[in-house]
Amino acid sequence: MKKFENFINGKFVPSNGSGQINVINPATGALICTVPDSTDQDVDEAIAAAGSAQRSWETQPAAVRARHLKALAHKIRQNVEPIARVITEEQGKTLGLARVEVEFTAEYLEYMAEWGRRIEGEIIESDRPGESIFLFRRPIGVIGGILPWNFPFFLIARKAGPALITGNTIVIKPSEETPHNAVKFCELLVELDFPPGLINVVHGRGSGAGHALASSPNIGMINFTGSADTGSKVMAAAAKNITKVNLELGGKAPAIVMADADLDLSVKAIKSSRIINSGQVCNCAERVYVQSSAATEFVDKLGLAMRDSRYGDPSLDETVDYGPLINEAGYRKVERLVGSALKSGATLLTGGKRGQGTQGYYYEPTVLTGCNQSMDVVRQEIFGPVIPVIEFDDLDEAIALANDCEYGLTSSIYTRDLNVALRACQELRFGETYINRENFEAMQGFHAGWRKSGVGGADGRHGLYEFLQTHVVYMQRY
Ligand code: NAD
Repeated sequence: MKKFENFINGKFVPSNGSGQINVINPATGALICTVPDSTDQDVDEAIAAAGSAQRSWETQPAAVRARHLKALAHKIRQNVEPIARVITEEQGKTLGLARVEVEFTAEYLEYMAEWGRRIEGEIIESDRPGESIFLFRRPIGVIGGILPWNFPFFLIARKAGPALITGNTIVIKPSEETPHNAVKFCELLVELDFPPGLINVVHGRGSGAGHALASSPNIGMINFTGSADTGSKVMAAAAKNITKVNLELGGKAPAIVMADADLDLSVKAIKSSRIINSGQVCNCAERVYVQSSAATEFVDKLGLAMRDSRYGDPSLDETVDYGPLINEAGYRKVERLVGSALKSGATLLTGGKRGQGTQGYYYEPTVLTGCNQSMDVVRQEIFGPVIPVIEFDDLDEAIALANDCEYGLTSSIYTRDLNVALRACQELRFGETYINRENFEAMQGFHAGWRKSGVGGADGRHGLYEFLQTHVVYMQRY
């Protein structure tokens, strides 16, 4: 059994403490490896290394910084299979999806590298004769990146890519559930002789290393992806030093199915969005609103489609549609939400219990009909292969129900009517709306949640500029 270390200043180094965290395969319960339960001192050392490296990194032309990112992307592409297997083993997604995640990670780094020559400032008209006003965009310094477990490898790049191309350096704390893929990432940095100190990885728990990173006075921005509850704690820790926060939090995406929609298309999209990664995706359809006149046909088709999903150990069987949930707590939450919906009057169309014949945290593909807006399964993030369905009569009602939510990440609507689609675009109060499709978002878009789904956002030009601060220079001629 392997015992991994932190990665600081280009080297694997032991923690100053003795605590270890066990990493478990959620499909079998087997122990995979351990990582350090890092101390505040470990975090401080990583931040110090990132701080020293940042000063010279910032002076490199962006085109040079881009070359390093492209080399890293190339290295990742050469290692898709071993990295994908590590992700599947510790996180439980299918091997096919893990391969897509690794390839997408490489593409994301290439995309961010392309921004090197495109970072622009502004020239602003002055009120004074002979004066020029220049707005420069400068790096922030050291970025703290805290990751969840659901797309653990990609999220390293979503934080490190824009951080590095803009002249920042970064300290990353992976999720304690899925740290092994981050170790693989660091092994590639070593093989590449990547400049030391630019990307540092400190393992540990949220309340320990995570809190130390978020509350450090020596980082310029904390870039966090995870649940809204933890996001609130991270924001509070950052507030102590007025540190900038960028928070990508949970979602409760509504999918609205109008009676005129292509029902087969909507069923296919909603089902696949709900079982991909076992339903553990922030922008998956988490609740479905179907117009009453099409409800019977839609629900019949959805039930058939969901029943047709196969789950199993994704490391052993490449043909399964989904694997286990991440851990016992994730499984219990799904069980609780389904149980309380049934108690409150929902009807079980299919599923509703632990995956049969398996020892991991599997949950059957589940559809609940007759749900209402006050049920926890309709209000809280489920993060499992469960679809609650609610009927509505007209678009006004559907939009009101969809918007009645503390989260505001993504939303979708299925219709053939352009006016209906346009009204939904104008009235759905979410950071993203998909018309006639479900997730995922594009790297050139802007993934940003409203309300409790986050502060700031990621991807594209707007995501990149989150990693820059402005510097305005007034230059007076005499
Ligand atoms: P989580 O909030 O439990 O943990 C996320 C990270 O925060 C982990 O690394 C954890 O160790 C750390 N952490 C925990 N307590 C902390 C503290 N007090 N201070 C600092 N760090 C702390 O989330 P999770 O279960 O890993 O991930 C699932 C959640 O992430 C879901 O809510 C999902 O919607 C969300 N998510 C959002 C996006 C997005 O782009 N909006 C993407 C992926 C996941």
